[in-house]
Amino acid sequence: MLVLKFGGTSVGSIEGLNNLKKIVESHQRPCIVVVSAITGVTNMLIDIFAKAVSPGSKYKDDLALVKEKHLELAQAMLTEQNYNAFKEELEDDFEKLESLLSSVSIMRNRLKNLEDHVLSMGEQFSSKMIVRMFEDAVRIDGRELIVTKKSGDASQILWDETCKNVNEAFKNFNSLAVIPGFCGRTPDGYITTLGRGGSDLSAAMIAAAIGAEEVHIWTDVNGMMTSDPTIVKEALTIPSLSYSEAAELCHFGAKVLFTPAIWPAIKSNTPIRIKNTFCSENPGTLINREGNVENTLPVTGITHVGGISLITVFGNGLMGQVGTSYRLFGAIADQGINIVFIAQASSEYSISFAVKDEDGQKALDVIRKNLEADEIHGSYIDVAIEKEMAIIAVVGNRMRMTPGISARIFTALGNSNVNVVATAQGGSELNVSVIVKNADVERGVQELHKEFFK
Ligand code: ADP
Ligand code: ASP
Ligand code: MG
Repeated sequence: MLVLKFGGTSVGSIEGLNNLKKIVESHQRPCIVVVSAITGVTNMLIDIFAKAVSPGSKYKDDLALVKEKHLELAQAMLTEQNYNAFKEELEDDFEKLESLLSSVSIMRNRLKNLEDHVLSMGEQFSSKMIVRMFEDAVRIDGRELIVTKKSGDASQILWDETCKNVNEAFKNFNSLAVIPGFCGRTPDGYITTLGRGGSDLSAAMIAAAIGAEEVHIWTDVNGMMTSDPTIVKEALTIPSLSYSEAAELCHFGAKVLFTPAIWPAIKSNTPIRIKNTFCSENPGTLINREGNVENTLPVTGITHVGGISLITVFGNGLMGQVGTSYRLFGAIADQGINIVFIAQASSEYSISFAVKDEDGQKALDVIRKNLEADEIHGSYIDVAIEKEMAIIAVVGNRMRMTPGISARIFTALGNSNVNVVATAQGGSELNVSVIVKNADVERGVQELHKEFFK
């Protein structure tokens, strides 16, 4: 059995939906289709919820727009009878959503589980429309299949409970299922979301649970590319790569696949194939355990993430101190702040790490508070922050066998006048990452792409 996941752009236009229909019809049954919300709808729902909890903000027009978007597409895609049934179902959902939002706006209570309930509706709407495009399809609510500890990502999924639910739902299943992605629920029934881009994770998790042959991620580009195609015009589609290479590329900005989706695929060894809904004949990208064994290029891809703050803790008070990193990172984790990059000077005189810009100040405050206690007589520890930075990651399985990669990276960046503020290399030598200014990142990525893929 295959699990096919269609992203927001694939389900957000008549062209995309027509292609989706053809693709799904060309696959054997049984088949599982996981769908995202229509492109832009999750953002709109986030905005609607934020408006509902803030005094004086009006959300009703936005809500009407969400409804209109769905009805417009449904009108083009469904028979009259199916359209009427869908419209009725949608109106019922909107009535419930409106009454939930109106209580939220009276209480002005930004409860996470209420917000998640609202956000989960995007995938509910799209799946209710898409299921009606097929004669043999049934809709199974992903919120009933995926069990999570709380909202978040793959680390929050309760594997055994989810596998049990999925296997029960698909016992003796022989047709087509349409499942809304992005959401789950806690064991006591609260709706949760899996993080932005989380429908990829829903699909990978369901594929792992069911022992699917492959999971296909249908999107709007030909596959995982050697760089973000919006920045590097010459970016090439990577025919195949390993789970670990894909994880590095996605972690550092290749948005085409939600990084946590790789975890269930690794655990169950389910290959992931990325395909283009708008060019289905393109072979796309295959991600599996082996990767591309015939590849001779040292670098597989170059990715970047912007909007990063680099925090450096420095001072002779760090030297030889046992447990400083433990306390430092423990305090950051306690605040729920995600660290995306770490580098330590060999003198132990400084530790640098990167967080998202929006977490920067909070991280700084936490460290100041925690490290004050470390200052002992005759030594000092201080902390500095550099905002509006970016990470560029050069990733490849074969880099460890090829000398001189770092030299090429720094020369290319130097020649294009991009200043490297910090650097880190994983012990696996799969990834060399550098921190540069946001303003330099596009130029840096373009130069590195030229250097390794010319
Ligand atoms: P979907 O709606 O299908 O989930 P996303 O917007 O989440 O699609 O991901 C697809 C987008 O990811 C592409 O349109 C592309 O611009 C962007 N992207 C960024 N980096 C890469 C990369 N290295 N390879 C492919 N796509 C990338
Ligand atoms: N709709 C969700 C989002 O926009 C999940 C997804 O598209 O994968 O993040
Ligand atoms: Mg996506």
